Amino acid sequence: MKQQLMKMLEQRKDEMIQIRRYLHEYPELSFQEEKTAQYIADFYKGKDVEIQTNVGNGYGIIVTIEGGKPGRTIGLRADFDALPIHEETDVPFKSKNEGVMHACGHDAHTAYLLVLADCLIKLKAELAGTIKVIHQHAEEVPPGGAKSIVESGVLDGVDAVYGIHLFPTNPAGDVGYHSGYSMAGRTYFKLRIQGVGGHGSSPHMANDAIVAGAHFVTSIQTVVSRRLNPFDMGVITIGSFDGKGQFNVIKDSVELEGDVRYMTTEVQELISKEIHRIAKGIEEEFGVKCELDYVPDYPPLFNDPEITAEVVAALQSSTEPEIKSVTEFPMFSGSEDFAYYAAKYPSCFFYIGSKPKGVEKPYFNHHPKWEIDEDALLVAAKAVAEVVCRG
Ligand SMILES: [Zn+2]
Ligand SMILES: [Zn+2]
Repeated sequence: MKQQLMKMLEQRKDEMIQIRRYLHEYPELSFQEEKTAQYIADFYKGKDVEIQTNVGNGYGIIVTIEGGKPGRTIGLRADFDALPIHEETDVPFKSKNEGVMHACGHDAHTAYLLVLADCLIKLKAELAGTIKVIHQHAEEVPPGGAKSIVESGVLDGVDAVYGIHLFPTNPAGDVGYHSGYSMAGRTYFKLRIQGVGGHGSSPHMANDAIVAGAHFVTSIQTVVSRRLNPFDMGVITIGSFDGKGQFNVIKDSVELEGDVRYMTTEVQELISKEIHRIAKGIEEEFGVKCELDYVPDYPPLFNDPEITAEVVAALQSSTEPEIKSVTEFPMFSGSEDFAYYAAKYPSCFFYIGSKPKGVEKPYFNHHPKWEIDEDALLVAAKAVAEVVCRG
């Protein structure tokens, strides 16, 4: 069956690319992927499978492929949401939805998995076990789609869940993995600082929220550099500082939003404690009011060592010419809501090189100039096919 499956995937490489380009042209934001979900559901129309739509807290879709032979039940997950980014590439299939872009490769994830799933449906008499294809909405925005899909119970009984992500630093053909904790957990926070507004000429009659906010931004830089064990990993980023006003008016309030990443719960707790402490200190120091919403979301992603070893063995023994190298990647500070599957089921999330050909320094995920080498689609399909065929 494997040989036949690989052949079918090769023959349908162009179709994967066409699907990917179509999705790329019509990206939709997290939790608003109505048309994308419809496109996916339509793809399965008339095929001999069970399909569940509107799974979880959005447009999640689960397709169950029952093989004709006994075997494990596994989940294969691809996400399908896009980002609020104005695309700056020159590709002919550039986003037609203004201000929305598939800049994380979820269009490619969905495209390869649709075609792979269809090939598996065609070969299902030969297939050992059951496959739950997880087309997941809303990966990019917490609370994400994965948590709700897990909580809905549709995956109960699966023996393992697999997922991939395109990775732009490596060329198509490279496959990367990391066993154990491999991607960071994440916390979102929002700090609202309330001061007193006033005339730009009379600071003594006001209480400047911008100055207090600027101190907060500077102070939290010391958490990772001065509080964290240098062998631990932590990242704190302020991504939004709403200080826009009039040049001659003292701002009464500002709102900051930030992002925290960590690889362990100990670091999660340490950073939380420090940020709360600094916010309290700003209140004291500047006489302002601080309101801090601190919301941990995606947990650190843990790749089951046994399942990961199986994936690595399947990929390393592959004779498919498209799979050129299988190497260990370092931990990665990005976050992924695939972590929720991995927290409940033995799972493996691995990386598929997608560096555009002829580019030395590729743009990273979420960049308005993000592009991929579409050869990565067939690599992804074949790599996951290897995992599926291992049983
Ligand atoms: Zn992303
Ligand atoms: Zn992504």
